Amino acid sequence: MKLLEERILRDGEVLGNDVLKVGSFLNQQMDVTLFRQMAETWKALFHGENVTKILTIEASGIGIAAITAEVFGCDAVFAKKSRTSNVSGDVYKAMVTSFTHGIVSEVIVPKPFLTGADRVLIIDDFLANGEALRGLISLVDQAGATLVGCGIAIEKAFQPGGKRLREKGIRIESLAKIRSMSDTDGIVFED
Ligand code: 5GP
Repeated sequence: MKLLEERILRDGEVLGNDVLKVGSFLNQQMDVTLFRQMAETWKALFHGENVTKILTIEASGIGIAAITAEVFGCDAVFAKKSRTSNVSGDVYKAMVTSFTHGIVSEVIVPKPFLTGADRVLIIDDFLANGEALRGLISLVDQAGATLVGCGIAIEKAFQPGGKRLREKGIRIESLAKIRSMSDTDGIVFED
């Protein structure tokens, strides 16, 4: 998606060789007009898939998932990273290692929010090692729901997650795929 690539080049900041900061338009300050264009792109890519639920993980996926759900005309659900007092009853759980913080946390979704009748599109801001997607896919499997695929804003294709998951037959549609990046040489996208 040209628009997203241009925005990454303009406003993204590379930290070291493996972290891209996009807090000014994707993660903390949210350009919801851009989110809508991203959502429309996924809507076209997943045309005819009858998506009934958008699933993401807190926190940075939530904004993108909410706008995407509006475009698909369904609800969005996010996996919570810890059990809080307002999550009660039976839950689906998976362990996820956070790319940015390195900590392992249990992510949970209450069982009534994902059912065997759901056709799920997973949405997230980044794909790096694929840990977040692996956990979310496990939640979909536990629910007996159908995974339609994954919509990712920015895939760092030099990290192994995308390759590993595609080899398992999972459909992943990334709107910007970074082939390489460094704070000295900048960002190179895949064709
Ligand atoms: P993975 O689980 O695929 O290793 O990493 C994806 C998750 O880590 C995403 O949910 C995202 O929040 C975070 N993440 C991974 N790489 C980056 C990055 O370069 N920049 C930012 N801002 N978040 C990242």
